[in-house]
Amino acid sequence: MARIVQKYGGTSVGDVDRIKRVAARIKETYDDGNEVIVVVSARSGVTNELIARAKAIHSIPDEREMDMLLSVGEQETIALMAMALHALGVPAVSKTGAQAGIITDPAHTRARIMSFEGDRIETHLKRGEVVIVAGFQGIAENGQITTFGRGASDLTAVAVANAVKADVCQIFTDVDGVYTCDPRIVSDASKIDEISYEEMLEFASLGSKVLQARSVEFAKKYGVTVEVRSSFNNKSGTIVKEEVESMEDVVVRGVAVDKDQAKVTVSNIIDKPGSAAKVFQTLSDAGIIVDMIVQNVGRNGVANLTFTVTRSDSARAEKTVATLLDELGGGEVEVFESIAKISVVGVGMRTHSGVAAKLFSTLAETAVNIQLISTSEIKISVVIDLEQADTAARAIHSAFQLGTK
Ligand code: ASP
Ligand code: MG
Repeated sequence: MARIVQKYGGTSVGDVDRIKRVAARIKETYDDGNEVIVVVSARSGVTNELIARAKAIHSIPDEREMDMLLSVGEQETIALMAMALHALGVPAVSKTGAQAGIITDPAHTRARIMSFEGDRIETHLKRGEVVIVAGFQGIAENGQITTFGRGASDLTAVAVANAVKADVCQIFTDVDGVYTCDPRIVSDASKIDEISYEEMLEFASLGSKVLQARSVEFAKKYGVTVEVRSSFNNKSGTIVKEEVESMEDVVVRGVAVDKDQAKVTVSNIIDKPGSAAKVFQTLSDAGIIVDMIVQNVGRNGVANLTFTVTRSDSARAEKTVATLLDELGGGEVEVFESIAKISVVGVGMRTHSGVAAKLFSTLAETAVNIQLISTSEIKISVVIDLEQADTAARAIHSAFQLGTK
């Protein structure tokens, strides 16, 4: 017997038939003698629809009311899932985040979990019930309903697994697991059996939507073992866990392609102390997250500064920097949207040399020009032309022998 958390995303509970199918799957796990706690998302599209309605009524909806509204999506699916289990003769009870005991800070629409004791859930498990918890929401100490940000039902699942000391947190989704690259780009991408928290965190931050980044951080912090698997078949998925030594045998775990980036170049600014500080402080005050940064010290006392932001922030970043140019002593700002960031990720890079050399020579052979480079201990990222992104990803994937062929 094991204690298992199963999280089902929006597509998996997208309509009544799918909810019934998921319920049958939960029943199987339950009938095998396991204790089961289920976390569900809103039906796919519902959260977007609620946001659209709010925006149709008010251009900047109040954040408290937004949480009141968005938490409804998940409340629908927990109740329907409980009913679906009842119909199969399985004792089950639904709980909102608040009822489950998830206490958060009061930051509406981006709340953080402050404390979460598993005793309320535990009581129901003792009675032999399946407990179904609404994803992505909690309650602040002041009694207000809060939500955690988009995609955060994953976080609820991991937090529940930690609170009740579950043996595993299974994230059921519409893909079979985490792949060595996006299979829509690289046709022979293969499913990864095991991946470390750190590697997964890189993939999540690099735009892989399989697991929400904060949920991976949480899992890493508390050592929660996560399994990503498909809700449409019975294949084993990808296990995300503490790094073990054998993980370093693989030099590169996978290749991530991020097409949602833009490059901002600030050129001909006076090369004096404090310029970069000013630029990045102002961007940070505007809530713009900057990723890669490169500065070239030019001749004649002027410098160029290049950085990347997510594409949706690029216009704002350009405007923000433009207001500073006078203060910086002149210069120009320019945005390039047609770029992509390609990254190779793997804990094996700590012990293997030559990853950068192989990556760069592969790109050279493919006639891909590198615009920016950044590295960390377990990752190398390059910015290249958007049009070459897929070709480059395929070449890199095959150079590091990640394919099934
Ligand atoms: N329903 C929320 C969203 O769409 C949370 C989730 O699905 O994880 O972002
Ligand atoms: Mg999701």
